[in-house]
Amino acid sequence: MSDVNPIDEGQNEAQIAPWRATVLTLFPDMFPGPLGTTLAGRALENGLWSLDTLHIRDFAEGKHRNVDDTPAGGGAGMVLRPDVLARAIDHATGEGDQRPRILLSPRGKPLTQEKVRELKDADGVILLCGRFEGVDQRVIDGRQLEEISIGDYILSGGELGAMVLMDAVVRLLPGVMGKVASGEDESFESGLLEYPHYTRPTEWEGRDIPEILTSGHHGNIAKWRHEQSVALTKERRPDLYEAWEREKE
Ligand code: SAH
Repeated sequence: MSDVNPIDEGQNEAQIAPWRATVLTLFPDMFPGPLGTTLAGRALENGLWSLDTLHIRDFAEGKHRNVDDTPAGGGAGMVLRPDVLARAIDHATGEGDQRPRILLSPRGKPLTQEKVRELKDADGVILLCGRFEGVDQRVIDGRQLEEISIGDYILSGGELGAMVLMDAVVRLLPGVMGKVASGEDESFESGLLEYPHYTRPTEWEGRDIPEILTSGHHGNIAKWRHEQSVALTKERRPDLYEAWEREKE
């Protein structure tokens, strides 16, 4: 084929396969959405990761292609059917596919930077986006879905959660951020929140940049930043601070 993507040409063959995300959703048009722009979008274009969406409705049967039904036992709303979801998941999961199968769910384990790093080291992810009241428990059990939450609040669907997860992973993929911003220094990476940042102008609305930062003394600057991190974490996130203290011991 003569239609060679110029970006692919420069890549050597020994390069590991790109991180591969497959999203199962009732709203495939939402993707790539914000992930098609800036850092993640460029990385997507450059083949550093890939994103496929599967429309859950394509796996429904019958004249009406129903994907949901009323909850057994009664109650409000609709529940996504296990048979339809299982067909979609099985389709997404190729032979030998070792990617984690994740259901975005407010009942899941909270997404943390540690989990994000773990997912970065996998071949990719299969992400199932719930809608309505959620999904039939039997497909969670039967397909061993790992439930992950992006926070203690309820979204109207898993799609934004899937985007949050992918955004957090993609920026850590090799070649995405470049050398300078390796992500090592960020909040959570050390178990602490990040220290405050400043840039020019040196004086703004009567406020100065802390003198130490313009001193040029790298040792003192590092020490100051660390102290700021510790103080901020203690004040804002006592839970993280205690975990960090315990870790130190
Ligand atoms: N009835 C459910 C909420 C359903 S919200 C309950 O009370 O637990 C509909 C869908 O949105 C969910 O199936 C899930 O895929 C997604 N969702 C909602 N909140 C979320 C969160 N905090 N994290 C990840 N996904 C979430």
